[in-house]
Amino acid sequence: MHSALGRSQRSPLGDQTITIKVHARFLKSATAPEQFPVPTAPEVSFLGRSNVGKSSLINALLGQKVAHVSSTPGRTRTVNFIELRQKPESLEPDLILADLPGYGYAKISKEIRAEWPKFIEPYLSERESLRLCVCLVDANVAPQKSDRQLMDWLRHRDRELLVVATKADRLSSNQLSQSLSQLKREHQVEQILPVSAKTGSGMGELWRKLRACMGNSEIPVDPASD
Ligand code: GDP
Repeated sequence: MHSALGRSQRSPLGDQTITIKVHARFLKSATAPEQFPVPTAPEVSFLGRSNVGKSSLINALLGQKVAHVSSTPGRTRTVNFIELRQKPESLEPDLILADLPGYGYAKISKEIRAEWPKFIEPYLSERESLRLCVCLVDANVAPQKSDRQLMDWLRHRDRELLVVATKADRLSSNQLSQSLSQLKREHQVEQILPVSAKTGSGMGELWRKLRACMGNSEIPVDPASD
């Protein structure tokens, strides 16, 4: 998959709406550290249990199907790298997204346990260009031990975390705020960003966090295309 479509992402920031133009391109899949691409840009990794909605979120963010939405939970067991450019002609990408394999699915947990030390842990602990780990949790599911373990592991390695609660559209606002309070308490985080790949809610704020990871955070503002 080597499409390079433009994406205009309208992002509400206060009372101002900006248009973020992003060109996304699948770069490569890696199953071993020696296959990781040369770190040419700041990187953001996406982590979460299988079926949490990671592929849907990445695709919704980019406005195109770059990440594989699997029918078999936990099927993708590679680190998939996606390059983002503000200008399609740029030699180097502005940001790289790393889509990590889902974890915590009982049927394959043994395999995953064997694979994590081989290439996921080295990736998470050693990748110098890694600026942010986006940890996805399902807003509809009670706090999970495996998520807390991963967050603790990342905190231990001084990794910057952003916890995102997926599928927020499935809950009423009361249910959502209860779920977020419980997730914050159990995972020991001050902030959790609720998102929905289905309705697009929370995408503007997530883009803002991604933008902050780019060295050059000058995103073209294009009020004409409102
Ligand atoms: P992954 O295994 O983490 O990549 O999860 P997927 O993106 O494949 O999604 C798992 C399931 O959750 C699929 O059936 C999706 O349609 C559903 N899903 C993902 N995101 C959302 C969302 O924002 N809202 C709702 N209602 N369903 C979602």
